[in-house]
Amino acid sequence: MKFVQETGAIIANDGGLISMFDGEPGHVDFPDQMIAQLHKLQPGYIQRFTHTHPPGMPKPSGQDNSMMSNLAMVVYPFPVRLGIIVPQSWVLAKREGEFVENVYQWVFEPREVWQARKMIHNDTKRAIVYEKVDSTIFTYSDGILSKKHQPHISSWQDWIIERSYSWQ
Ligand SMILES: [Zn+2]
Repeated sequence: MKFVQETGAIIANDGGLISMFDGEPGHVDFPDQMIAQLHKLQPGYIQRFTHTHPPGMPKPSGQDNSMMSNLAMVVYPFPVRLGIIVPQSWVLAKREGEFVENVYQWVFEPREVWQARKMIHNDTKRAIVYEKVDSTIFTYSDGILSKKHQPHISSWQDWIIERSYSWQ
């Protein structure tokens, strides 16, 4: 399997696709302005961002971390979530593979919590905390995806796989 590019997507609350965009082999840019506008119009409408990574890189990169930390400040008190999709195993000849999407969440700490800490420890910086909140395994077989124990899944997940990985 060849990794072609990172592909990003913005996912709505109902699990549907809001927007998908092509990245490069090393990174994908999320459209900051569009995100801020969507949030202003309807806070909480965006359920998560997600994107693909090369095999073996299931965790947020330094760039992912700084991007999501910035967004967490913009949409505070809402949390922001970022999915990372990576292949775990694959059979080239059959165009089959098993993928996982790990979802991480960033939260900008409440002002009161920070101020309490500031008084005790003299911390001058408000913290942004992130943790893994979800992990879903799905299988891909010749253009068709299915979730374990749940045969029907969104078609945007097919597209994101097709755009990011090649089976040659
Ligand atoms: Zn990333």
